[in-house]
Amino acid sequence: MAANRVTLKQSRLIALRRAVLAAVSLLAGTDVALAQRTAPSWTKGATCYEIFVRSFADSDGDGIGDIPGLISRLDYINDGNPKSTTSLGARCIWLMPVMESPSYHGYDQTDYYRVEKDYGTNADFKRLTAAAHQRGIRVLVDMVLNHSSNQHPYFLEALRDTTSPYRKWYRFASPKPVDQGQWIKSPVRDEYYYAVFGRSQPDLDYTNPDVVAEANKIAKFWIEQMGVDGFRLDAVPYLVEENGKLQGTGATHKVLHDYEDYVRSLKPDAYNIGEVWAPHDVVMTYYPDQLDGYFAFELADSLISGVKKGSARGILPPLLRLQRDIPAGRYAPFLRNHDQTRTRTEFGGDMSKARIASFLLLTMPGLPFVYYGEEIGMVGAKPDPRLRTPMQWSTASSGGFTSGKPWQALQSDSATSNVATQTDDPASILNLHRTLIHLRTSTPLGDGTLVPLTTSNDAVIAYLRRDGNRSVLVVANLGADAASGVTLASSGTTLPAGHWTTRSLLGGSAAAPLNVTSSGALNDYMPLPTLAAREGYLFELRAAAPR
Ligand code: CA
Repeated sequence: MAANRVTLKQSRLIALRRAVLAAVSLLAGTDVALAQRTAPSWTKGATCYEIFVRSFADSDGDGIGDIPGLISRLDYINDGNPKSTTSLGARCIWLMPVMESPSYHGYDQTDYYRVEKDYGTNADFKRLTAAAHQRGIRVLVDMVLNHSSNQHPYFLEALRDTTSPYRKWYRFASPKPVDQGQWIKSPVRDEYYYAVFGRSQPDLDYTNPDVVAEANKIAKFWIEQMGVDGFRLDAVPYLVEENGKLQGTGATHKVLHDYEDYVRSLKPDAYNIGEVWAPHDVVMTYYPDQLDGYFAFELADSLISGVKKGSARGILPPLLRLQRDIPAGRYAPFLRNHDQTRTRTEFGGDMSKARIASFLLLTMPGLPFVYYGEEIGMVGAKPDPRLRTPMQWSTASSGGFTSGKPWQALQSDSATSNVATQTDDPASILNLHRTLIHLRTSTPLGDGTLVPLTTSNDAVIAYLRRDGNRSVLVVANLGADAASGVTLASSGTTLPAGHWTTRSLLGGSAAAPLNVTSSGALNDYMPLPTLAAREGYLFELRAAAPR
């Protein structure tokens, strides 16, 4: 087929380009063109917050969350005062799709230039970005490049009129291709269209320059007219199919590279983050010169699994691989997102496990993302709408989410587990988030290197976060029982030799002073006599005067 010849030619060109660039790099002794992109400086120490607008806050009583409702809750996310203890302190929000769509989740657009009617107007959205920026919050929106809705006017025209220019925006075939992904029978004539995510989401054809140009035009509209600061790009491995290969093709990598270049040309400090739900080695093929960042799915699973088992073993290796291969601003640790069982539900409803998992997430390197509701330990299991239930704000009816009937029933614990109740509890998972997200902006927790330590008890995890001459010691007991006499050690160099005093960053007593050997090693160091069950500790280290 003609389309296949084009993509084959493109893939050869990409291979050629990479070979030439690699040769140039070798000759110059540096990575000239395939160098790592640099994450914008605002990502340093930042935490992002993922929001499903439909479920966050309803302003007009129709039971559906909306943009004005979100604006009214911005102070909860970040009130713009770095010293405030009442806001989360997130410096960026990722909004799940906000463009016009026939589905409740919004991952299939019928108009890329208009805010979903249920959520408000374009003018409302511009007010949102302005109000967010006033508080130091960057706004990323979900961008679904792979497909449109099957109700998009372009697709409807392509279906009906074989002479329409939009025919070449999608992929049609007759007879049905075999072994090349999901082809859907046209409702209009004896032919098939390609739709990897099913009938309502026909794939756009990014081998057509007109489609690429339209994607750029949409990006320009959202950056320049609507004021967004970047995009979360959905399902990026599927953009271009090549010779029956459906994911991660050379042409897909090229589209991502060019898209990032284009967005950065519009806004140099924009941030684009892609969804590549795959093992580390596969995610690595999307670096160094494509999007800014990708979600750390492998790390999410190791965190959940380690806390579930109460064992530190296996938690850090995915993080250490990321740290080895990728600059910290360019990977995004998280626990769960809108497609996954909620964290606390993974733990059978155990709040102490959800709390310690959040402690680990927010004391690791990278740009962490917190899915709304995770900060109060909201529960939820599939089907999908139950992973995306209304935010639980207060003990008021419908959790303070709406004055009307919520579009989706709240979780059954909303009267006891909500923002208002947890705000009053200093030990709540919510107040832990507020504390740690703020500490990330002012301590090595936000930007320091992670140095793993070994522990004498399998239930205890420990690491240092080092940034220049500042260091924080992180210790957490993942076990259901208090642990006594736990000692820490390093397998290599940790800190400059000498004596170090400690100060707790979470209140409570200091840990014992440290003695680091002349080789920089730490041996048999007992920070505290006893570590409480499922509790985390943070100690800032200070070099003691020489004795
Ligand atoms: Ca509403």
